[in-house]
Amino acid sequence: SNLTVRELAERLNIAETEIIKSLFSKGIAVNITQTLDLETARLVTEELGVLIEVPEVIAAATKQTEMLDAKDLEHLQRRPPVVTIMGHVDHGKTTLLDSIRKTKVAQGEAGGITQHIGAYHVDVEHNGVSQQIVFLDTPGHEAFTAMRARGARVTDMAILVVAADDGVQPQTREAFSHAKAAGVPVVVAINKIDKPDANPDRIKQELSELGLVPEEWGGETIMVPVSALKGENLDTLLEMLLLVSEVEELVANPNRLGKGTVIEANLDRARGPVATLLVQNGTLRVGDAIVAGGVFGKIRAMIDDRGQKVEAASPSFAVEILGLNNVPSAGDEFEVYPTEKEARLIAEKTAETQRNSRLQLAMSSRRVTLTTLSAQAQEGELKELNLILKADVQGSVEALLGALTQLPQNEVQIRVLLAAPGEITETDVDLAAASGAVVVGFNTTLASGARASADHEGVDIREYDIIYKLLDDIQGAMEGLLEPEE
Ligand code: GDP
Repeated sequence: SNLTVRELAERLNIAETEIIKSLFSKGIAVNITQTLDLETARLVTEELGVLIEVPEVIAAATKQTEMLDAKDLEHLQRRPPVVTIMGHVDHGKTTLLDSIRKTKVAQGEAGGITQHIGAYHVDVEHNGVSQQIVFLDTPGHEAFTAMRARGARVTDMAILVVAADDGVQPQTREAFSHAKAAGVPVVVAINKIDKPDANPDRIKQELSELGLVPEEWGGETIMVPVSALKGENLDTLLEMLLLVSEVEELVANPNRLGKGTVIEANLDRARGPVATLLVQNGTLRVGDAIVAGGVFGKIRAMIDDRGQKVEAASPSFAVEILGLNNVPSAGDEFEVYPTEKEARLIAEKTAETQRNSRLQLAMSSRRVTLTTLSAQAQEGELKELNLILKADVQGSVEALLGALTQLPQNEVQIRVLLAAPGEITETDVDLAAASGAVVVGFNTTLASGARASADHEGVDIREYDIIYKLLDDIQGAMEGLLEPEE
């Protein structure tokens, strides 16, 4: 969600020095590689009068995706939101997805038959007009970690499903941490309200403790009680998603060659390589010369989520395509090029870069460790220290959080992505890898597989049993004073 000065300059098509000067005049010193938050980026766009008539759109666009560039700014149009469903196991994610699909797709569709392509769209009546919502059918946090690890943002918002008879559970917290780390807004679906022991108020209380405070209690989180099983209140949930999407100002430029992200891909015995592509900018068409990661091809056919052949797919829509020379990876970016020859060249280059970077990764350590972060702090390059905290009991978690907030944070801010009692799990490691965080354990152990996964993903796990030692190390890292380990 954040842009460096260089990227913002490229996107706005102005010189980097303009941005640096503009911010300097406001007392903010930045360098070219520094990342700017939305607020600061907005200061620049306003000061420089760049497309001053639509600052929100630019701010939203710069926030949303790396898929837009300066040329798109004049052609931006609203696009449907892309939504993922997250939550604890058995809280009703699958049922909710099926239920929305049934009620919304069955009406008026030829046979109402849907095809599994990893994403589907529904039509919703909102403010008297028919609008669309696109759902990704991948398990929520897997999609998040895999895609974030590759730097692609594919989802605009998340539905966090919480069963009203069970409440906030470990994977509820985890899911929320992922959404928060990705900067994706969350709408809560309090599910299973048809059950006699459902207690929505208790759920709201528990969610408030996580920092998700319902609107009716003065907070900012939309919470909709639903029954996925009985199809109750799903229309309200869908309307709320559209409401949030309006605030997010989701835009793209349909008048250009398509680009986006590979959602799923596999080798079909009869049809050859098959990939589901989420279009994030431009329009994708049959006959296009396309590159997806290190593979390329000419699109022979496109099939939508209703099994229909289509000729074109506009921003936020997902289609299955045929015609690639090989199977790309989920999370790879794709882009259309003017000619097949160009596509082939780019794909070959990308494949080579991918090989090289894999090699480099294997050779050099890319570990984000407390020590490397400390070195960055010393250079004045570290702005945020991302932490994942696990401790033996809730009491320790709270004590740690309390103590951490006491540390001076003028230069470097501590950002706790997840704080919970329990073992350090592989999912913690995944989240750390995806968000450049260090995992800190206090009086706790590693779940099986966590160590191997941390080694594999280059994640630093620090274990402590003395609280002041832990605080010392964190403070040392923030001040750039942490001694390198041997
Ligand atoms: P997931 O693991 O989150 O995908 O959960 P599922 O969708 O598989 O649902 C788990 C169980 O809860 C299934 O037996 C569903 O039938 C049931 N379930 C889901 N939604 C509701 C609901 O709104 N009301 C009731 N009573 N049961 C539900």
